[in-house]
Formats: sequence, C-alpha cells, structure tokens
Amino acid sequence: MRKPIIAGNWKMNLTPAESKTLAAAVVAAAGAHTGDVDVVIGPTMISLSAAAEALAGSGVGLAAQNIHAEAKGAFTGEVGASMIASLGCTHVILGHSERRTYFGETDEGVFRKLRAALAADLTPIVCIGESLGERKAERTLEKVNFQVRAALAGLDPSDVPRVVLAYEPIWAIGTGLTATPEQAEEVHSEIRKTLADMFGDDAAAQVRIQYGGSVKPGNAAELLAQPNIDGALVGGASLKADGFAAIVAAAKG
Ligand code: PEP
Repeated sequence: MRKPIIAGNWKMNLTPAESKTLAAAVVAAAGAHTGDVDVVIGPTMISLSAAAEALAGSGVGLAAQNIHAEAKGAFTGEVGASMIASLGCTHVILGHSERRTYFGETDEGVFRKLRAALAADLTPIVCIGESLGERKAERTLEKVNFQVRAALAGLDPSDVPRVVLAYEPIWAIGTGLTATPEQAEEVHSEIRKTLADMFGDDAAAQVRIQYGGSVKPGNAAELLAQPNIDGALVGGASLKADGFAAIVAAAKG
C-alpha cells in the first residue's frame, strides 16, 4: 500500500554534463520501474537543470540536496524551494547528517525548510539518525524520536503523508557498515509509532520511511523486505546506474 521510494544522493559529485549522462543512464536502467517504485536522483544544485533535461517525460524524480527556508531575499549563496521546483525538482533532501555535521544544520532549520518544501509542492525527504556514540549509549530511539518530533511538530495531519523520512544511522553512511535488517526495522517501527502518536494511525500508515547507510545491490532486498522499510536513500551506490537500478528492482520485490 505504500509505494516504495528509492532516492540517490549524488552528494558533491559530477559536473552538469556528467550528471546528464548518469541521469540518462538511470532512466534507461530503472525508468521502466517507476510505476511500481518512486525513483529519484539527487544531483548538485548546478546540475539540476542538466539532469532535468535527461529525465523529461521519464517519471524519474529529481531532488535537490538542500534549500533555504526563505523563498527569496538577501541570503548569499542560497537557493529557495520554488527556484528548484522551477527547474523540475520534485523532491528535496533535508537535514542530511553531512549538512548537520559540516554545515550547522539544526532541527529548527529542518522544521522551517520542511514547511518551505511543502509550500513549493516538493516532497521533502527528511533525514534523521543516531551517531555511533548514541547507539552505544542505547540512545538511538530517543534521538530519532526527538528529530521526528522536532521536524514535524504542528504539521497539518493532511500534509503528513507527503513527507518522506529517511532513517540513516550516521555510523552507516559512507562507511560500508549497514544496520542489520532487524536493527533498522526496530527504529522504523518506532518512528511509525511516534508518527501515530503525533498524527493518528491513518497518517502514520501512509508515511514512507526509507533506510539509508551503505545500501548496495547486495543488501537492499533484505532491508527492503522489512515491513516498515519503504525504500532507501542511497549515496555511493547511486553513482552507478546499474547498481542503482538493481536496488530499484529489489524494492519492486
Ligand atoms: C547518504 O548519503 O545518504 C548515504 C546513505 O550514503 P551511503 O549510501 O554512501 O552510505
């Protein structure tokens, strides 16, 4: 009942020309699955236009990796939600742990950007997750619940199903370490309980919760088979069209 969503986070990689080539390769390799799986790629800001050309008419979505919370104004170097929407973006990744760690992204910032994304008719992919220290201290559920509540507090329940959450344990991002399916499912089911507490069972049942952290063709199927794992946010493995398409195929089941 929840359509799986597989999104690629290309991070700070590829020129516009290279992005267009990879976007075209993703369409060729995975475009046929878009009826069953939401497929999304996330190039850098300067490559969004070029990638959009390659995606035209394919059904593959386009995500920016960040936005500013304000629509426009004196915010040098920043880009607003309606600006990326005008380039063809359908999604935006918010609160990625690299942005939280290296660029001072806060829960308050994510809260505001989430509302800006929804106002621009973009699908926000809100990233949450614990550090290794927090996991070792058995504070994973506390941390993740806090981030979910901070980002979504006060949202109109009718808007909640438009939000995608990405549970990404920080210790698993780009490290080759992956949460076991059981570890991931424990957190995903806890997130859904928190959503139900905040917005009711119906809204909670509709929210897609992706897992992210070293997802590869070889481990995708067992993660995606978990009842509360509705897709994946994929970093490194999204830079190769065939591998990314294999993850999309795994989501199709
Ligand atoms: C990410 O960037 O969100 C991510 C999960 O990266 P990787 O798949 O490389 O761990």
